[in-house]
Amino acid sequence: MSQTKQTEFEGIVFFRRNYRERDMLVKILTDHFGFKMFFIRGARKRGFRLSAAILPFTQASYVGAVSEDGLSFINAVKESTQYRQILNNIELNAYVSYIFELANAAFGESKPLGAWFNQLQQAAVLIDQGIDPAIITNIIEIRLLTYFGVQPNLHDCVICHRTDRVFDFSESYGGLLCQQHWSVDPHRLQLDRRTIYFLQVFSQLNLFNIHSIKVSQATKIKLRRTLNRIYDNQVGLKLKSRRFLEEMKIWPA
Ligand SMILES: [Zn+2]
Repeated sequence: MSQTKQTEFEGIVFFRRNYRERDMLVKILTDHFGFKMFFIRGARKRGFRLSAAILPFTQASYVGAVSEDGLSFINAVKESTQYRQILNNIELNAYVSYIFELANAAFGESKPLGAWFNQLQQAAVLIDQGIDPAIITNIIEIRLLTYFGVQPNLHDCVICHRTDRVFDFSESYGGLLCQQHWSVDPHRLQLDRRTIYFLQVFSQLNLFNIHSIKVSQATKIKLRRTLNRIYDNQVGLKLKSRRFLEEMKIWPA
C-alpha cells in the first residue's frame, strides 16, 4: 500500500479526462503537493455532488486522501471559485493550459512548488482579469527556463561583462553579447533594445508586482520568436498545448 494522508489543500483544476464509464481523472495544481492526479469516482454521473468543484479552472479548498505516488482522492470541497473569463474564452483557456503544462513539465508530478504555486495562481488571476496573456506567458517561460537547466545570462555581456552597451542575444554563448562582441556569433538573434529590455525585466519579475503591462505587437512577436528558439533548441519540449496555440494562431506571430 502506498501512503495516503487525509488532508486539506488548495488547488486549481488543470485538466480532466473521462475514465471508465462513470469516473474521471482530474489533474489539479495543489499548494502543498504540486501537480497531482485525482481519481474521482462517479464524476460522470448526473447530479454528482462535486461536479462544480472539478470543472477546469476552478480553484477550491479540497479535502482528500493524497497519495505520494499513486492516485489521490477528493472527499469534500469547502470553498470554490471559478476563473470565469478563462473558462469561457478559448484563447485565455489555451494560454493558461500552456502555462500549467509547461510548469508541470518543469516540476514533474507530486513535487511541492513552494512559492511557484502562488506565481502560477497569480498568472491565472491576471489573465482572468484581462492582463495580456501573451506577456504573462512570456514571463513564466523565461522564469521557468532555469528548471529545465537553461540559465541564459541576461545581466551583462557573457564575454566582457559590461552592462552599459547595446546588447544582442546569443544562443551558443548562452546570453547577452555587447556590440563589441557581436562578431563572435554570426547566428546571434538580431534582437532590438526593447526586446532585450523585456527579456531582462521578465526574468526577474514577480507576478504579484504586475498591475498593467503594455508591450507593442512588434515586440511581442520578437519575444515569442526568441522564446520559441530557446525552448526548441535548448529545452526541446513538444507540448500539446503549445501546438494548439500555434495551430489556432492564438499567439503572436
Ligand atoms: Zn562584450
